[in-house]
Amino acid sequence: MSKILIVAEVKNGEIKKNTLELLSFAKSQGLENEAVLIGSGVSGQADILAGQGASTVYLGDDPSLEIYNTEQYTALVSDAILQSGATQVWLSSSELTPRVAARQSVGALSDVTQLEISGDEITAYRPCMSTKVIQKCKFSKDGLRVISIRSGFFTADETSPATAKTVSLSIPEGHSKLKVKAVQVEVSDEVELNEASIVVSAGRGVGGTEGCDFVRPLATDLGAAFGASRAVCDAGWLPHKHQVGQTGTMVTPNFYFALGISGAIQHLAGMSGSKVIIAVNKDPDAPIFKVADYGIVGDLFKAVPVLREEVQKLKA
Ligand SMILES: Cc1cc2nc3c(=O)[nH]c(=O)nc-3n(C[C@H](O)[C@H](O)[C@H](O)COP(=O)(O)OP(=O)(O)OC[C@H]3O[C@@H](n4cnc5c(N)ncnc54)[C@H](O)[C@@H]3O)c2cc1C
Repeated sequence: MSKILIVAEVKNGEIKKNTLELLSFAKSQGLENEAVLIGSGVSGQADILAGQGASTVYLGDDPSLEIYNTEQYTALVSDAILQSGATQVWLSSSELTPRVAARQSVGALSDVTQLEISGDEITAYRPCMSTKVIQKCKFSKDGLRVISIRSGFFTADETSPATAKTVSLSIPEGHSKLKVKAVQVEVSDEVELNEASIVVSAGRGVGGTEGCDFVRPLATDLGAAFGASRAVCDAGWLPHKHQVGQTGTMVTPNFYFALGISGAIQHLAGMSGSKVIIAVNKDPDAPIFKVADYGIVGDLFKAVPVLREEVQKLKA
């Protein structure tokens, strides 16, 4: 019987949505699951993990863990693997995945978007070649399986009230070869792309920075993240942190608005997992319409004010 150890991600003292998605998925499959929780002052979050089905939470809570240090985190996750006897480790896609796998002398399967588990048999699916191909993977031998799973592909259930059973991890002592002196976080009140349930994205069709300023209020009205195609970012109309796509952020919101975006394969690679896609493009043959659920063939400068008006009416 598979036993899953899920590595929790914490941001600003709270468990991230992608961790809750993994726990909910494991629970829905009837799998025994446990979690690893690492950071400074994070123990209060253990009950949230228990409320999503984690039977045990392996806890590394220490002031020395306030700033993420890959060496320390790898050591702590390895300790949790040892103590739990897990047969699978699930992480959200991060650079921790290959380090954990290397420490256990096993391979890692990264960027998985779908899993089928039957006893000890696991079939994993992951997009590759800009999502033109979905790769079907199986592990060839027994032993620990380390899998990183892309966020947004499973749904997080409501957390039920629960009290966690916790097990302390040994905090690594001594000098780490790696010293992280500070983490600089940009302070912004914008909704983050990979956490957003709605994304409004601007493409080259907006014509410039003024066009970006024209469509951005639609994102604000909807409480959405503001995305862009690479063409927009390369032109310097918006910073690169807004870029959605193969070489930008992968998003899987409930609603994705593509405004003046042609739908190049590299853009689709980052947003085609969105649940509902709404495209506005004046070219009826634009490839974006092949993936769109709703399409407006027309000028975005005419469509955006109408969309904003309708949103205001719904909010009123
Ligand atoms: C290795 C590699 C990686 C890449 N990674 C990414 C990536 O991560 N993300 C990404 O986005 N791209 C990426 N690209 C670039 C990608 O190939 C496209 O060039 C880019 O996505 C095009 O952006 P666009 O759709 O905004 O612009 P265009 O392709 O120029 O499309 C603009 C669209 O706007 C429409 N339009 C114009 N005016 C209006 C108007 N007034 N109203 C309505 N519609 C209008 C046009 O009909 C057109 O369809 C990558 C390319 C390479 C080679």
